[in-house]
Amino acid sequence: MTGTVVFVGAGPGAADLITLRGVQRLAQAQVVLHDALTDPALRELAPRAEWIDVGKRGFCRSTAQEQINALLVRQARLHRCVVRLKGGDPSVFGRLEEELQALAEAGVSCEVVPGITAATAAAADTQRPLTRRGSGRSVTLATAMTQHTRIQVSAPRADTEVFYMAGRQLGALGRRLQAAGWAGDTRVCVVSRAGWPDSLASEHPVQDLAEAACLHAGRPTVVTVGAGARATTGAGQHIVAGAVPSKAPPGARPRAPALAT
Ligand code: SAH
Repeated sequence: MTGTVVFVGAGPGAADLITLRGVQRLAQAQVVLHDALTDPALRELAPRAEWIDVGKRGFCRSTAQEQINALLVRQARLHRCVVRLKGGDPSVFGRLEEELQALAEAGVSCEVVPGITAATAAAADTQRPLTRRGSGRSVTLATAMTQHTRIQVSAPRADTEVFYMAGRQLGALGRRLQAAGWAGDTRVCVVSRAGWPDSLASEHPVQDLAEAACLHAGRPTVVTVGAGARATTGAGQHIVAGAVPSKAPPGARPRAPALAT
């Protein structure tokens, strides 16, 4: 008998940001195929399951994706409940389409449990809502990266744009944003490790976005531009131009390189 594959969004990091439904599905799983980004503490939610790391770093070659697809099908034929645990929300830059398609072709039934995506985790950390009454009516979740690794940005299509997977190319993203029509002095909000205790947020004019590179180096990062990047009047200081942890609790130490103050 073929089992079911449940795609579970793990959220942006810290294990307490997964949904209750995700926790329930993990508790039922015999095997969990997971990405590299997910919090190791999540393992405690499925201590008896076999955990298989299928995380890929950087750009995944199609063969690597094909291997994951094949592994999912194989595991579904062996087990009643297979969880495919993905960082953030499975439907956002998560290669969900390919995996759903492979499972459908193999006749395997699937379920998708949503998760908190990096864009909303970053908005929460910085207390900068992605939509604003009157000025922020639309949001895009975009990636500046293409399969061929050349960074691309189209003309602004929404009041707020959130860019994923640009952490290693912030300078290039800043130049592309200007070429796409954003004024050089537009404020841009950069958040890395959103949702973690050592989340870090900084604000820069788009023309100086390259300055954020050192600050957020080696950390998963999203870049918000437009209405959703603006500070909320009267809200607490959760972000400071240049360099402070957005919400580090007492005693928490940012894992970023030493910060200039
Ligand atoms: N499915 C995920 C996105 C996967 S693509 C989601 O919904 O969030 C991987 C990219 O997501 C990273 O390059 C980074 O841009 C972003 N990302 C993932 N986790 C993040 C985090 N905790 N903080 C900031 N950005 C994050």
